[in-house]
This record gives sequence, structure tokens and C-alpha cells, in this order.
Amino acid sequence: MYDIVIVGGGPAGATLSRLISNKYKVLLLEKRSFQRPLYSGAQKCCGGLLAPDAQKMLASFGLGLPKKVIIGPQLFAVRTIDFDNSLERYYQRHYINIDREEFDLWLESLIPSNVGIINGAVYKGHNILKDYVMVEFIKDGKKHTEECRLIVGADGAFSMVRRCISSGKSFDKTYLAVQEWFESSIDFNFYGAVFDSEITDFYSWIIPKEQCLIIGSALKPGPEAVAKFELLKRRLEAYGFNLEKSIRKNGTYLLRPANISQICPGNDKTGLIGEAAGFISPSSAEGFSYAFRSAAAMAEALNQDIKKYFDLYRKFSRKLYMNITLKRLKSPFMYDKLLRKTVMKSGFMSIDIKG
Ligand SMILES: Cc1cc2nc3c(=O)[nH]c(=O)nc-3n(C[C@H](O)[C@H](O)[C@H](O)COP(=O)(O)OP(=O)(O)OC[C@H]3O[C@@H](n4cnc5c(N)ncnc54)[C@H](O)[C@@H]3O)c2cc1C
Repeated sequence: MYDIVIVGGGPAGATLSRLISNKYKVLLLEKRSFQRPLYSGAQKCCGGLLAPDAQKMLASFGLGLPKKVIIGPQLFAVRTIDFDNSLERYYQRHYINIDREEFDLWLESLIPSNVGIINGAVYKGHNILKDYVMVEFIKDGKKHTEECRLIVGADGAFSMVRRCISSGKSFDKTYLAVQEWFESSIDFNFYGAVFDSEITDFYSWIIPKEQCLIIGSALKPGPEAVAKFELLKRRLEAYGFNLEKSIRKNGTYLLRPANISQICPGNDKTGLIGEAAGFISPSSAEGFSYAFRSAAAMAEALNQDIKKYFDLYRKFSRKLYMNITLKRLKSPFMYDKLLRKTVMKSGFMSIDIKG
């Protein structure tokens, strides 16, 4: 019997697996097999930009990125395109452009050998019994079960673990994030943020990755999502982007906590970390730093006392709740058309691009 079963080996699950004390017997279940070539099977739909808060967390873990995770070009500015107000501005930002699959593979490689890892394992559900938790998963088409004292869901925005404990209740503000990769020969050395209220009340983005350009958008789920994404592409083409050669397209859910009451840390037998718990920035959808911080808080709680872990986890993750509240306060300046127009027109904090 395991002490802890962790579902999901993304940034949150891999970090918890790495930081958890070796006094516990731990099993990590991850549905991706991470077989090369990496983009041939299931992959995480993500922009793959490490923001300063996530860089700070990696620094606090004493980690530096290996070369194979870093992808060109490195970006030092956001090009903000506001279709609502016909405005464009550049702002200095320090991102690290990464290959998301290589990043997750690297994070998994840092997990100590005492943690059992099963790749290609798809969690299907769990039952809380009197003295233990029974976890069900599928591997190679066969059903398996494992027993543990505690299950931790680190299985992302569409967390089955969260849905298993909240009786099918879903997150109030969920977006459908769509990304399409295009072959590109242009020199686009910015992170593009696109605001257009006809497309979404959140935002769309343009991210260069070596010889490719990712066009992405966080859309309202429903029958209109496809048409809205097509409209975005048409507007960007009219704006000068060449989107002729599509390479791949994928999508996933993206949470946007409307307030901290939507954060779900779990309960005494089922913990939740990362985006599964709802930890993500509601203003920018930056999620790596929240995945790292919630995983570190969970590891600290478990390493102190597994029996009291839930109260300890809530205590150690308190700052994350505050952080989400602060990000929500920042949101109107980005998403209210008039406020954004005033800020962008003023040129406040913007930089000039020469040449
Ligand atoms: C389109 C898009 C772009 C984004 N861009 C950025 C960005 O540039 N920078 C940034 O900081 N954040 C970004 N985010 C947010 C960021 O990707 C997430 O917040 C972050 O990955 C959360 O980490 P996590 O470990 O909690 O969840 P995830 O990264 O979603 O990891 C969940 C893991 O669980 C596994 N899993 C899921 N279900 C099961 C199951 N049933 N059984 C077994 N395993 C399972 C998955 O394979 C995955 O490995 C973006 C999000 C989206 C949707």
C-alpha cells in the first residue's frame, strides 16, 4: 500500500513528487508516455513561457534550465495589439521561451528514484474507504487498482480527481484554450497579446517558437468557439501575419478563478494542487508559478504530518489565495476596454521599438 498516490506529472505533480520526503511510499500516475518524438502523441496545450514569478520559484528550488528545454527566440517584450481600440504598444517583460514537452520531461527526470512513476497511466476514479483510498487507473488497456492513505490530484484544469470529490461540479469560469501552430519565416521577437472583445472577454496570444508561430486564444466554450478562432486568424492575417501553413492544432480547458471561493484545495483524504485546485493567474493565465508554489506548500504540509496535512496545506498556501485576489484587482486595467485605452494611450511603462 502506498502512502500517497499523485495523479498528474505536470509542473505541480512532478514538483510535489520531487519534494516529498522519502519517509513516504509514493506513486505518480501520468497519462503522457513522453515517448520521442515528443509531439507525436498527447501533449500539453501551452504557450510555454516562463514568467518571472515561475523563474523565481525555480531559483528557490536551486534549479536552472537545461539547454534542451530552452527554445528560441528569447523574448524581452510584449507586443500588445488592442483591436477594440485600434492601438498597439510594446512593454518590457522578461520571459523564458521553453519547449513545454521537454520542460515536463525534465521535471519528471528530477524525481528521485524512490518515487514510483507509471507513464501512460490514466486515472479513472477513486473510492474513499474506511482506512484507505482505492485508486483506479488504466494502463495498456487494462484496469489496475492501488491502495493509498491519501490521493493528490495534480491533473490540471479538467481535473477528474476534483470532479470525483465535488460530485461533478465544474469550475464556474472555464475557457476553451485553442492553439494552432504555423510554419513561419518572419522575425517575430515578441510575445503578442491580443485584445478583441468580439473574440473573447479574456485574451489571445502570438508566441514564436523557432520556425513556428503559435496563435492561441482563451475562448468561451460552446458552438461559437471555432468561428471565433477563425475570426481571430482572419484579423491577424489582415494585420500582416502569414498563417498559411498550419502544422498542428490542439485545445484544452483553462480556468480563470473569479474569486478565491472557487479554489478547491481538496479534503482530508484527497488533496488538490496546481490548476486542479484552481491555482492560476486570473489576469494572465500564468500557471507555472502557481503549480510550483502549491506543490511546495503541499510537500511542506505532508512532510510535517500526513495526518494533519490538510490544515497545514491551507496554512502554507494562504499567500497564493492573496496573490489571486491581487491579480483579480489588476484585471480591469487589462480587460476593461476604456481603462485599457486610457493606459495604452498614455504610453505609461511602454517602450519604443526602433527599426
Ligand atoms: C493554452 C494555454 C497556454 C498556457 N500558457 C502558459 C504559459 O505560457 N506560461 C504559464 O506559466 N502558464 C501557462 N498556462 C497555464 C499552465 O499551462 C498551467 O497552469 C500549468 O501547466 C498547470 O500545471 P499543473 O501541473 O497544475 O497542470 P498540467 O500542466 O495541466 O498537468 C496536469 C498533468 O496531469 C496529467 N493528467 C491529466 N489527466 C490525467 C489522468 N486522468 N490520469 C493521469 N494523468 C493525467 C496530464 O497529462 C498532465 O501532465 C497555459 C495554459 C493553457 C491552457
